[in-house]
Amino acid sequence: MITFQRVAKAAGKHLTRTMLVLRKAIGARANRACTACGQSVVGFFRYGDNAEWGCPNCGASPRERLMNLLIAEKTLTVPEQGAILHMAPNEGSLVRRFSTAADYVPADLDPARYSVPGMRRVDLMALADADRYDLFYASHVMEHVPDDQAVLRNIYRALKPGGEAWLIVPLWDKPTEDGSFDIPPRERERRFGQWDHVRQYGLDFADRIRDAGFQLEEIDASGIDADTRHFFALDDRLFRARKPVGSTAG
Ligand SMILES: [Zn+2]
Repeated sequence: MITFQRVAKAAGKHLTRTMLVLRKAIGARANRACTACGQSVVGFFRYGDNAEWGCPNCGASPRERLMNLLIAEKTLTVPEQGAILHMAPNEGSLVRRFSTAADYVPADLDPARYSVPGMRRVDLMALADADRYDLFYASHVMEHVPDDQAVLRNIYRALKPGGEAWLIVPLWDKPTEDGSFDIPPRERERRFGQWDHVRQYGLDFADRIRDAGFQLEEIDASGIDADTRHFFALDDRLFRARKPVGSTAG
């Protein structure tokens, strides 16, 4: 659905990105860098309220840059010999990092929207795998699913014991507010920030993850030292959920 709000945000994003590319072309000092593409940049382009959102070279978002940093510095380990279910794989740098795994499954409810080879259709509401994956990755997916608590239980079951789910969702500083697809799209956009979102999460997302049986570690960009955070314009929070070793399929 196209609304004025979306058009304005997209136009602003395009304009500031073009400006940054031009500034670099005329010799401005590129004294920042992107963890997703490894390039030095003169700055990051604005998107919505975030003045330093996107990499002018590869388009990577703050959360994509955060994930690349955590993997590069080995806080997170990609299970190279294992199985990875990568939902909504539109972050190119992470497709490159994950797709070298022995069993890489890129998937979406609507796989035709992606050009990633091997895309499969997966409806998380109906995900029936058990003890199948070493890693489940979904960034900005959980706010789209009708029943997130059912989906969290499905993810838990689909993981092997010791397997991890890396989850990122849009957050605000209030408690989670749930909606449903019965609410008209325009009202969902107003309440949840986007027409196809059915809820807006707060930090209590953590409780829902634990309720599904996971052990949880939260890694927030604000916990990274200020120089590094500024240099790569990092933002966002990763919910790193682990299915305990010794557990059986839930
Ligand atoms: Zn980049």
